[in-house]
Amino acid sequence: MGSVQIVTTILAAGITAVAVWLAVRAVMKMTAVIRLGQPAPERFADKGARTRKMLVETAGHTRMLKWGVVGAAHWFVMVGFIVLSLLVLEAYFEVVTPTGGLPILGHWTVFGLATEIITVLGLVGILVLMAIRLRNRPNRPGGRSRFTGSTMWQGYFVEWVVLLVLVFGLVIRGFKVATDHFEYPVWATPVSHAVGAILPDWSDGASVAALIKIVISMTWLIVISLNVTMGVAWHRFLAFPNIFFKRDPEKPAGSGLGPLRPMTSQGKPLDFEEADPEKDQFGVAQVEQFTWKGLLDFSTCTECGRCQSQCPAWNTGKPLSPKLLVLSLRDHAYAKAPYLLAGGGKDLTGEEKATQAQLAHLDVLSLAEGDKPLIGTAEEGGVIDPDVLWSCTTCGACVEQCPVDIEHVDHIVDMRRYQVLIESSFPSEAGVMLRNLENKGNPWGAPQNTREDWTKGLDFEVPRVGEVDDFEYLFWVGCAGAFEDRAKKTTRAVATLLNEAGVSFAILGEGETCSGDPARRIGNEFVFQMLAQQNVETLNEAFEGREKTKRKIVATCPHCFNTLGNEYGQLGGEFEVVHHTQLLAHLVSTGKLTPVQPVDGGVTYHDPCYLGRHNRVFAAPREVLGDSIQGELTEMPRNSERSFCCGAGGARMWMEEKIGKRINVDRVEEAMATGAKTVAVGCPFCSTMLNDGVNGKGAGEEVEVIDVASVLLRSVKPEQPRGDKESTPVAG
Ligand code: SF4
Ligand code: SF4
Repeated sequence: MGSVQIVTTILAAGITAVAVWLAVRAVMKMTAVIRLGQPAPERFADKGARTRKMLVETAGHTRMLKWGVVGAAHWFVMVGFIVLSLLVLEAYFEVVTPTGGLPILGHWTVFGLATEIITVLGLVGILVLMAIRLRNRPNRPGGRSRFTGSTMWQGYFVEWVVLLVLVFGLVIRGFKVATDHFEYPVWATPVSHAVGAILPDWSDGASVAALIKIVISMTWLIVISLNVTMGVAWHRFLAFPNIFFKRDPEKPAGSGLGPLRPMTSQGKPLDFEEADPEKDQFGVAQVEQFTWKGLLDFSTCTECGRCQSQCPAWNTGKPLSPKLLVLSLRDHAYAKAPYLLAGGGKDLTGEEKATQAQLAHLDVLSLAEGDKPLIGTAEEGGVIDPDVLWSCTTCGACVEQCPVDIEHVDHIVDMRRYQVLIESSFPSEAGVMLRNLENKGNPWGAPQNTREDWTKGLDFEVPRVGEVDDFEYLFWVGCAGAFEDRAKKTTRAVATLLNEAGVSFAILGEGETCSGDPARRIGNEFVFQMLAQQNVETLNEAFEGREKTKRKIVATCPHCFNTLGNEYGQLGGEFEVVHHTQLLAHLVSTGKLTPVQPVDGGVTYHDPCYLGRHNRVFAAPREVLGDSIQGELTEMPRNSERSFCCGAGGARMWMEEKIGKRINVDRVEEAMATGAKTVAVGCPFCSTMLNDGVNGKGAGEEVEVIDVASVLLRSVKPEQPRGDKESTPVAG
């Protein structure tokens, strides 16, 4: 070992020892913070499916590849990081001796070839990612950036480290080539040989370059260890467990969607008949009341801003950005952690748990963080502003896009649950809706005995459950479908088409109440459970004696469709629920319904969030429309998984939209820009919102918003009186 190698070896060992010590400390700190969360035992079930999902999502980059170039570039960088870690390891042999290499593997030409390819592709990948970050930098002139609010220096730092580590990998090899100590042939390592051709014949070059590579790598490790909230770096490790512990590994991408998690306390679903607010946790009032998976979510955020770029609230000037919400919760959790780890925290009655002696050594900032309300305005020192919390439509675009499977919607609803159930703090206008649900069983407060009014004037009998036993489908009409004028047209159209196709169906009529979706999404789990239990009982009775595959329900409202199909199972109601567009598509494809007259004027389709993203029903409505117009749909730029919300979900239908541009107007402008004369929808709330948007733009005469079923009915029975074009909806 020469004098140069003695120095390089000592320096490499020194900086590595410091970095590893700091990294171990950082990992222990992060683990301690994540363990502060509440239990989530269900996350340990289905380990096989979880492992498969994690491998498929990471190796296949299934989320990232939806973003084309950036996904491909990130894949190469990720593979580069994993495989080229071996080359960092090899650098430790090279600081000791310039001709050194990894034992066994380092003498294998295949290894030389593979690492050469990955180095080159990794270089291309990181340059692409750097260019994309620069092009999307928040301070660039004009335009919105998904990186607004991200800690930009961290992103630049990580990218430069990757770039330099890759470059110095080639420089080490180049010095070996120049000194004639490189084992791999030119055909396997042409770039290394090209670099070697321009480097001097310096015998210590490989050791010095290896030291620089180690210093860069260990500087990265030191910096991220001193910044445990640096998700842009830590996600390289945390993404794996975060994807592994996602809540439903069997479901396809976007699987954080569909059913909401039940309310839990100490890891067990809350039973409202026995629950006690002084002993049981009702929603989330403190950051440590999220589950440990929630805290892992916050730690894993890469600050990539994909969620933010898709969020309807953020895109219309509301204060909510799912990314900034996650970052606020993350920063608060880590700042509050010293106080919590010292034994601090409030019990469920709001009393401090720690003694003064326990908190005596804490700095004033940790103590102050412990006192911050989780939900509160800037003046109150709140972590999350109420306007942020209540701006969410629960559309799920954030969950759909997040490359590391963060479950924003669950966290938002958990915080809403505490605000509604314990603080009674929510936008006051929604109070009418909740009272109507409790007293009348529907959000409009319409009399229950008018639930069947939509059947009047139909030229066939609509059978009720109890009057007929042999129905195939129970037609779940929903509150909008029963009480709201425009939605009643859809209900009638669906009933007419089912009758036309010879499908045997029956309705519950006055036996139906609200599915409970708006109560659950606003956070009133108590009212949701009250309504849901009643409905589950009614439905179980209606289907008595039938196995699950024969307990078929067809629903026109995607919110009912989602709640009945995905959430009633949590209360003992197992049904096979289809959306009416799925059933209609089946009836057309099997020849039971025949579109005869093409609907003209151009048709575009708006995907309802709870049908599309939350339940992956994208094809059926498009098939029905394609058959009805006997041609191609005109798609909006934001469609299918990336569809833009109408603004009504998450009980926003019953809240005023006071901040920023109206979401429905934004969507209507997009629909109108397609030039289509018909905007087809598959949800009564979307119908109301988009109709309001069209009328607000004074385009009610040129553009028509109607349900897919009505479009089909016009094609199947062109002689049917139109009457679909509505005036003002009824809101009782
Ligand atoms: S669910 Fe929709 S509205 Fe809510 S934060 Fe996510 S993207 Fe925004
Ligand atoms: S998409 Fe996921 S990782 Fe990216 S900023 Fe949003 S929450 Fe963080």
